[in-house]
Amino acid sequence: MIKIAIYGKGGIGKSTISCNISAALARAGKRVMQIGCDPKADSTSLLHGGERMPTVLELTREKGVGKITLDDIVREGAFGVKCVEAGGPVPGLGCAGRGIINALETLEKLGAYEKYQPDIVIYDVLGDVVCGGFSMPMRKGYADKVFVVTSGEKMSVYAAANICMAVNNFKGRGYADLGGIILNKRGVDKEDEAAAQLAEDFKTSVIASIDRNTNIPFAEKHGMTVFEACYDTITRCQLEDTAKAVLACFGGAL
Ligand code: SF4
Repeated sequence: MIKIAIYGKGGIGKSTISCNISAALARAGKRVMQIGCDPKADSTSLLHGGERMPTVLELTREKGVGKITLDDIVREGAFGVKCVEAGGPVPGLGCAGRGIINALETLEKLGAYEKYQPDIVIYDVLGDVVCGGFSMPMRKGYADKVFVVTSGEKMSVYAAANICMAVNNFKGRGYADLGGIILNKRGVDKEDEAAAQLAEDFKTSVIASIDRNTNIPFAEKHGMTVFEACYDTITRCQLEDTAKAVLACFGGAL
């Protein structure tokens, strides 16, 4: 089982890219599980016709600790991808990072990985704050590699650098390695150069690049992955290449 965490600044497209990577891998015959670790809880919505699914935290609050089952928290989305949303705390109360940890522990306790036997688990994690809570998927053996989604915009590169720094800070402790940078272009000046510099600073590489396009917004508007909404497009090819590049980091191939 390969476990990857996809981090990025909020709004940079990491959930969209995660859903499309999941779709690409599932279409290629892999068993895929995607776990949303963003309090917004919309990581998997493109795999569910744009619908938001109930989160582990909401269901735990509703039914009580120890009363929820895998059938409550795991939903099958497009292409058979198994979807989970960790969820977030009541606004103003609690710790979002703690919620992620609880959700991941609940999945383990309920035997999700044994039951579904995924080939690949994708954690989609908010990377604006890389505190102890949000860095949890890169620690404790949850993820093998971290991929960072960024555009060439200043704030996105800043957040991406913080994520890379967090991965580096844990180096040598048996935690996740940096898998590489995924450039989701926004059409700003010298975007390739900004991503290449970031990669060089952290001794990694830009493993994939997705051009600014109208296909992703179109697919999102219809609550679908690009593979369903606009298959015959360069964007679909680039997203498929992104999934291939992720697998290649593990020596695999689609
Ligand atoms: S900053 Fe991180 S650790 Fe602190 S309360 Fe927020 S999510 Fe929790």
